[in-house]
Amino acid sequence: MTGSTKYIFVTGGVTSSLGKGIVSASLAKLLQARGFTVTIQKLDPYINIDPGTLNPYEHGECYVTEDGAETDLDLGHYERFLDTPTSQANNVTTGRIYQNVINKERRGEYLGKTVQVIPHITDEIKRHIQALGRKGIYDFVITEVGGTVGDIESLPYVEAIRQLKWEKGRDALAIHLTLLPYLSTSGELKTKPTQHSVKELLSLGVQPDILVCRTEHPMTKGMKDKIALFCNVDQRAVIESADADTIYDVPLLMQQEQLDVVVLEKLGIANYPEPDLDRWREFLRRHKNPKATVRIGLVGKYVELHDAYKSIKEALDHAGAENEAKVDIQWIHSEKLTAKNVAKHLQGLSGILVAPGFGNRGIEGKLEAVRYTRENKVPFLGICLGMQCAVIEFARNVLGLAEANSTEMNPDTPWPVISMMEEQKAKVDMGGTMRLGAYPCKLSEGSLTALAYGKTSIKERHRHRYEFNNDFLEQYRKAGMSAVGVNPQTKLVEVVEIKDHPWFVGVQYHPEYKSTVIRPHPLFTRFVQVALQHQEGTLDRKAAMA
Ligand code: GLN
Repeated sequence: MTGSTKYIFVTGGVTSSLGKGIVSASLAKLLQARGFTVTIQKLDPYINIDPGTLNPYEHGECYVTEDGAETDLDLGHYERFLDTPTSQANNVTTGRIYQNVINKERRGEYLGKTVQVIPHITDEIKRHIQALGRKGIYDFVITEVGGTVGDIESLPYVEAIRQLKWEKGRDALAIHLTLLPYLSTSGELKTKPTQHSVKELLSLGVQPDILVCRTEHPMTKGMKDKIALFCNVDQRAVIESADADTIYDVPLLMQQEQLDVVVLEKLGIANYPEPDLDRWREFLRRHKNPKATVRIGLVGKYVELHDAYKSIKEALDHAGAENEAKVDIQWIHSEKLTAKNVAKHLQGLSGILVAPGFGNRGIEGKLEAVRYTRENKVPFLGICLGMQCAVIEFARNVLGLAEANSTEMNPDTPWPVISMMEEQKAKVDMGGTMRLGAYPCKLSEGSLTALAYGKTSIKERHRHRYEFNNDFLEQYRKAGMSAVGVNPQTKLVEVVEIKDHPWFVGVQYHPEYKSTVIRPHPLFTRFVQVALQHQEGTLDRKAAMA
């Protein structure tokens, strides 16, 4: 598209958790399917600089981008839907906005002026929104504002939207997502909260151009007219967003409601091509028509909150579709696993995934899960802390180093098989505490992992402080656990495998962040495939190497 970048703002009203991220990603997908370039940005109104320090119970998983930004999990949806990488610029928090403004103030950049929310904070917000547009590569920048309109903390964002809409005229529009609650006693959907939410936006100077109405029941005839009339929007711009079987249905539901067409018309874009959603539909066909079901155990300490493992769950779904199988995830709480009950909990599962994590809680349970999986020759995928647990378990039960541990769990362990490298210690002292973002990895020819990827040079994303301790490398290799993936520059171990096992892979990196609908991650795809073979009784090392 030639001409200036178009800005689309997405706000939410009535309640939180309406799925703004999915609606934003779905609109982006539809525009992308018509050949436009699109990126999505999330503005989070909390004061943390980024979600890196947040407990997963607060906002779910912390998603990591190629450039090492710790971001909101919605960025995972953006990447999974669009299959294009995001970066630090795609997630900004109030904390970061204020930090930038305060740093500028300290440097004297405001030339003695009184620094205020308007214009300084709002200017900083506008700068972040437009930074993506200024790259000159995007036809559309979709900016999603976290939280709910009316919250005190989102006021500066709404004000920034008001100003940008005024400045950009036809190059900007606002979409407001609301809820139509259903009253079962009267059997009715109610529009009043939507009207109030739009009033709230209007009181802040923003007239939404499009309303997307979340609803558990079909909207009745005349409802769109009523909402249109009371909220000053076109009838066609009232979009019904019914509950979907899967989040991956939402782009098609939005297409039926013509959300993309209304957006294009309102932004004055004509002669756009038909959307090409063939690959998307093919994914949905496979996802919804599985030929088999495979039960995979996900062992972690946050399992009561599935959002804490969002990218892993989605990557398993993508891999399931690729194998035309349904992945039935069994969420297993690591704190509940003991040597005594582990068999009861893990019996009958076709694959075990030990999840990432931090700190001591649930570690002993994870080690029991690894032991069960190793001894019973069940397909195993350990991710980050899951890989570290595989290394610790092997030390304790195969190498006979009973007190082996990670120095994260026991700084005084006599056998620090997982520890912090000198280089990382120096960074921790300087405040940058984690190895973050994409690093290269060289895989050994013929390893299970190289076979899964179909290549030996890969790049994967990291988020951790501790590493396999290379002092133990030889001892492990002799006993049957080898480092088959190594960072070519630093020699840090990225992947371990056990020789005497049909499929046992531990990765220090996070493959889940890179799985998308269009490109399921090869390691997850192979893991699900070998789990299916294990279930059918056809898995042996040779089959896994085929
Ligand atoms: N706690 C471990 C470390 O810091 C693993 C981190 C993770 O699983 N993301 O190295």
